[in-house]
Amino acid sequence: MQVITTKLELTRQVTACLRQNKTIGFVPTMGALHAGHASLVQRACSENEVCFVSVFVNPTQFNNSEDLLRYPRDLEKDAKLLELLGVHFVFAPTPEEMYSKEEMESSFMFDFNGLDEMMEGKMRPGHFNGVVQVVSILFDLVQPTRAYFGEKDFQQLAIIRYLVERSPLANRYKGIKIIGCPIVREESGLAMSSRNERLSSKEKQIAVAISQVLISSLEWAKNDSVFTVQQRVVDAINAIDGLTVEYYDIVDKTTLQPTDTFINAVGCVTVYCGSVRLIDNIQY
Ligand code: AMP
Repeated sequence: MQVITTKLELTRQVTACLRQNKTIGFVPTMGALHAGHASLVQRACSENEVCFVSVFVNPTQFNNSEDLLRYPRDLEKDAKLLELLGVHFVFAPTPEEMYSKEEMESSFMFDFNGLDEMMEGKMRPGHFNGVVQVVSILFDLVQPTRAYFGEKDFQQLAIIRYLVERSPLANRYKGIKIIGCPIVREESGLAMSSRNERLSSKEKQIAVAISQVLISSLEWAKNDSVFTVQQRVVDAINAIDGLTVEYYDIVDKTTLQPTDTFINAVGCVTVYCGSVRLIDNIQY
């Protein structure tokens, strides 16, 4: 496995792979890797001849500088795991290598066709512009055959699918297949996240309730309306000491617009556990 830190070297390696007509699997990450990331990487390695993983904490997608500062980073540990998983190339640039000064400062604007109006897009202004900015640069560099994203970040996955399949930029990325991968959970049910590292052991126990309430909501959905289920989820999580719901929205899986039926619906939740912001979702 080779760790690459410059765009020039990355382009050299990608060009060599493309010359040999090799299929390229790609997993973009922000590091602090766990079994959730590993599941994407394993799939990328098994379905493609070469596997590239990027490890880059993207400053342009953080709307909170404190969150960016506190984001866990351990490239050495990540590289060891990626090597064990059979990855061929890790791209781990500095922000200065990834972006020109103008790119770093200018606010990249993407038209999301309404997909960013709800949930994370609403709560974290500019977040998805930063995500699309970095993903489009990475796609241009890596030119993957398949790119792997987790359903844990459901809205992000929907936006990347839109970018590649239906947006005005779709033509540029038409060779890329976007693969969505299921949420990997701790045995307790807690969705794995790099941010879980910041939870105390007591908070980790409390946070288990998030997935438990989401699972209960599958039962509630058999009799209650979408509106009632939303309310019940919010009330049940807020009733637990130490948890505060930021939003729980049940939306259409493709358009991410509010829906009043459970057909093709996903419920996305964001919960503060102490100062740690956790996200999870459930498909109805
Ligand atoms: P991140 O490093 O948080 O940017 O995540 C990189 C990729 O891993 C994204 O596509 C995430 O959706 C995915 N991912 C993160 N956590 C999980 C999980 N628990 N299960 C499945 N995929 C995940």
